[in-house]
Amino acid sequence: MSSATERRDFEATKKMKGVMGKYFMELTQGPQQGRKTAWCTSVGPAELLRALGYNVYFPENHGAMLGATRMATDLIPLANARGFSPDICSYLTSDIGSYLKGESPLQKMKMPGPPKADVLVFNTNQCRDVKDWFQFYGREWNVPCVGIHTPRAIGELDDSLIDHVAQQTEALVEPLEKAAGTKLDIDKLRETIALSKQCTDLWKTVLEAAANVPSPLTFFDGTIQMGPAVVLRGHQDAVDYYRLLLDELKQRAADGVAAVEGERFRVYWEGMPIWGKLSSLSGQFTELRTCVAASTYCNSWVFEALDPSDPFRSMARAYSSIFICRSEEFKEQYIQQMVEHFRIDGILYHDAKTCPNNSNNRYEMPERLRQKLGKPYLVVNGDLNDLRLYSEEQTRTNIEAFVEQLAEE
Ligand code: SF4
Repeated sequence: MSSATERRDFEATKKMKGVMGKYFMELTQGPQQGRKTAWCTSVGPAELLRALGYNVYFPENHGAMLGATRMATDLIPLANARGFSPDICSYLTSDIGSYLKGESPLQKMKMPGPPKADVLVFNTNQCRDVKDWFQFYGREWNVPCVGIHTPRAIGELDDSLIDHVAQQTEALVEPLEKAAGTKLDIDKLRETIALSKQCTDLWKTVLEAAANVPSPLTFFDGTIQMGPAVVLRGHQDAVDYYRLLLDELKQRAADGVAAVEGERFRVYWEGMPIWGKLSSLSGQFTELRTCVAASTYCNSWVFEALDPSDPFRSMARAYSSIFICRSEEFKEQYIQQMVEHFRIDGILYHDAKTCPNNSNNRYEMPERLRQKLGKPYLVVNGDLNDLRLYSEEQTRTNIEAFVEQLAEE
């Protein structure tokens, strides 16, 4: 039996659990099989690492798991006691807390915990926190921590910027070859980039399905379905999975199946998810017959610029194009285009206390966009992982009032 507020799951999700399980199993078995492990930030040079034969592990994915399982709130204080402020990224503090306590959601999947890194590779395109986070483990394990420093608040992506980032990426080859004990095969890199590009194109098409009215999927579905795009880009398994999901989505759209029954309104989610509250938020929006149809967050794993014929420059372009490292003007234009494309009635901005980098309500943007687009907005105060910074009651009331406002527009 399913209640009216339950998420309508996809058949494909069963397959995804297998795909993700295999990925984590390979991470665990890597060292016994003589494979090295590289830690990579979510928008780091994963293709280069895969082409060098590393198993690639993404700690932000672990951070999200710590949030979704609500383990984070109890683990953060351990990192605080170690000297990491409660005001900085709660992925970082919950992950380091998890390491210090030796507790991880991965243990429920019969893994001992996150795999130890042979090398840590960051890209500061998203924030400085990822570098500090990786450097902690670099010191703990005495392993190399290398990375790319991408400029922030980028307006136009010009050649000099692409050259600068591409050169930094190429400069990683030597230390990464050394840690891997192998030489880079450029054809393997091209092949991996081609797979990443296929994954990204399919993921984009999955998200595009939400342009249908009613939408066959929600932002909350997206936060689950994005798993393979995050951890398996550059791998055939991700491509195969999204083909399967897409078939199901096309069928749903053709049959007019709505993710939210009786969809009345469509909302855009701007900012980080609140991982520990996805299910209750999804339930509330479903009750209100309001579909959170699109988000900046899920679209952050769309890397259209990837091109196997120009590996380093295209990686540089793809990873410097992401929303989070762009200028306010770019961001506004991007949101405007999303609002129009997905036929959005109102925008919800999540002000995540410990992630100023991905909270776009702080410098008047919601008001500017309201004036430009004539769409109402709501700011929800909370956090990605630290639930002490989130008031469920207040948020529920604010969302109810927001949807009433949408009804009056
Ligand atoms: S972008 Fe935000 S959530 Fe992501 S690692 Fe950086 S500070 Fe943390």
